[in-house]
Amino acid sequence: FERKKILVLGAGYAGLTTVTRLQKTLGFQDADITLINKNEYHYESTWLHQVAAGTIHWEEATYPITKVINTQKVRFVPAEVTAIHRDEQRVETNQGEFEYDILVVALGFESESFGIDGMDQYAETITSPETAVAARQEIERNFINYKNSKDPRDLSILVGGAGYTGVEFLGELIESIPELAKQHNIDYDDVKITCVEAAPSMLPMFSDELTQYAVDFLESKGVEFKIGTPIVAANEKGFVVKVDDEETQLEASSVIWTAGVRGNSLMEESFEGVKRGRIVTNPDLTIDGYDNIFVIGDVAAVMNGEGENARPHPTTAQIAMQLGELTAKNIKNKLNGDRLETFEFDDKGTVCSLGADEGIGVVFNREVKGARAAFLKRVIDTRAVFKIGGPFLAYSKGKFL
Ligand code: NAD
Repeated sequence: FERKKILVLGAGYAGLTTVTRLQKTLGFQDADITLINKNEYHYESTWLHQVAAGTIHWEEATYPITKVINTQKVRFVPAEVTAIHRDEQRVETNQGEFEYDILVVALGFESESFGIDGMDQYAETITSPETAVAARQEIERNFINYKNSKDPRDLSILVGGAGYTGVEFLGELIESIPELAKQHNIDYDDVKITCVEAAPSMLPMFSDELTQYAVDFLESKGVEFKIGTPIVAANEKGFVVKVDDEETQLEASSVIWTAGVRGNSLMEESFEGVKRGRIVTNPDLTIDGYDNIFVIGDVAAVMNGEGENARPHPTTAQIAMQLGELTAKNIKNKLNGDRLETFEFDDKGTVCSLGADEGIGVVFNREVKGARAAFLKRVIDTRAVFKIGGPFLAYSKGKFL
């Protein structure tokens, strides 16, 4: 009798939920579980906009993976996955090769610049603790530089995209930038924060009333929105936008791109039919032709609905954790020879925060805004930590204020 080898790639919300569930439901004798992740720590990717704005320190948004895994049952290997050989059932990493019977691919997201000229080179992103810290440092460096340069561009911040990430980032900036300005003896009125959005309206998932509430609030704190304004290039001066066939240069020293995400680019190299780093899964979260490979989180396109009307679920932490839960269950079913279950999204709603005390959202099908939304956001953030790490981790990492 040989223990089945379960290999989980990635310790984000999806992968870590899978592993923490597996270690609860499987005994040591049931399976040989290995978790591989690039960093020794897990990071709360949904808190990175706070790191990028400087309202929290990056360590607050991370914790060591060994804190939440049971090392008696799970082997954790800090390593970077470099190739997945799906037919040979083995994975290559910079720390050697790993074979598996069952594979869980949960390799997460990257920034997507859609091939826009200069974007990768000139804009900061909010995709990892490193990039978020770099964005924060960029803003601060430019404020310091302003003392000598007196160049208004050094006090100008451009945010590309008014999706969730862009808007939540703006909500943090209006809290941290007045502080930063004060530290550097800069008048906040001289600071310019501009958000550039290609679509004619922003946050289409919310009602017009809620969206307007967010816009009014951010504008009252000094944010300027340029809606219906696609960014077509980035350069050392800022963004180039194109409206009615006319190109305009928007000037800023601090430029942050939040306008696109995609699944890990290793996906294209490893599987067929991958689009923007995402592969369509079967309803039981395995992929076509490979009933021993589960793909979950931001690298998965889990379809919602049937036939022509089917659309992939959005890539959110809430869904990633639910996918992880089902994957753990289905792996157990598989080991027991039972039928696999299919994914049903249990939508608890979403909140888009606007700093610590404001927000908009839809929770249990009811619209919320203001302080109530901000409170619910902290509940959501704390619940995510609790679900993976239990009460002690929630106590140290949760947001109770
Ligand atoms: P997104 O893709 O949802 O939003 C990007 C925005 O940038 C869109 O509004 C798009 O119109 C705009 N854009 C694209 N190209 C542009 C261009 N050339 N010029 C100007 N604007 C352009 O990205 P996101 O906000 O990072 O969200 C990614 C995923 O993560 C989504 O599924 C989202 O639901 C999820 N998310 C959820 C939350 C939350 O629930 N609070 C927070 C963050 C992210």
